[in-house]
Amino acid sequence: MKKLAVLTSGGDSPGMNAAIRAVVRKSIFEGYEVYGVYQGFQGLITDNIEKLELGDVGDIIQRGGTKLFSARCPEFIDAGVRKKGVENLKKHGIDALVVIGGDGSYRGAERLNGEGIRTIGVPGTIDNDINGTDFTIGFDTALNTIVDAVDRIRDTATSHERTFIIEVMGRDAGDLALWAGVAGGAETILIPEDASDIKAVAERIEAGMNRGKKHSIIIVAEGVMSAQECGKELRKYINVDTRESVLGHMQRGGKPTGNDRVLASRLGAFAVDLLKDGVSGCAVGIENNRLIETKFDKIFEEEHQIDRALYKLSQELSI
Ligand code: ADP
Repeated sequence: MKKLAVLTSGGDSPGMNAAIRAVVRKSIFEGYEVYGVYQGFQGLITDNIEKLELGDVGDIIQRGGTKLFSARCPEFIDAGVRKKGVENLKKHGIDALVVIGGDGSYRGAERLNGEGIRTIGVPGTIDNDINGTDFTIGFDTALNTIVDAVDRIRDTATSHERTFIIEVMGRDAGDLALWAGVAGGAETILIPEDASDIKAVAERIEAGMNRGKKHSIIIVAEGVMSAQECGKELRKYINVDTRESVLGHMQRGGKPTGNDRVLASRLGAFAVDLLKDGVSGCAVGIENNRLIETKFDKIFEEEHQIDRALYKLSQELSI
């Protein structure tokens, strides 16, 4: 390998820039030429590929979003379309690619790996929903953004004696809701991995009110239901004054936390190490503070699991 490329794909996450920087600097440190592909897989097809130098990734470690832009590119499922992307890379003499993104991006990367481009995936998503790693790049930042919002809402919930329902991101994965709920001291956490019994939630809130509890915070992952729906459901069972907050895209933005920057730096550099060692067709991750690689097919084998012990703890602590 003499030349490799890096791209970011799917939903952006804070820390992607730090990962790009690590890939670029580690590659140059090892004596490789490194290229940036703009707009994810879309940029492969349109040949939006440029050589990057050390200075091109200066002053980005602290920035949210991604310098290389991201895009969804549904047509990448088509083998003929991917062939064009492979040809464009080959034209530049590039035969290896680091793909920073989520589960969908890994699928594109796996395909490419069987089609003449050696690929490595780096987990970049706020959802923390990828197998093969304890944490994804961006999760810690999004978690802290949500916790900050929950703390602010708690102040007003206390003052006005109300039940607040906070809707957070997570279509299929409840990690953000769970971690933010534990960190923010929420009374109730509703995650897609568990059937939600709103009647039981209502009974708990009522019991709390009978004990003299004046306010309560419910965190609901968007995949369960909307905050609005949740409020409506609750009021079927109890007479409670609710206020709903949808945190929305603010969860995806902002400067990455120190933890996300360090994680991104380690994983980005490790991806280059693996390519250097002739390894590909896998994604990098961190497990018990050790860097690991996992073959893509193993990653796709099972559904991502929520931390059940943490979920149980959240229920024990919110009685
Ligand atoms: P994420 O990577 O955040 O999960 P997406 O699911 O939107 O985001 O996937 C990002 C991109 O990866 C898609 O727009 C598409 O270009 C590519 N992709 C997703 N699934 C496949 C697939 N089965 N085969 C090839 N490419 C895919």
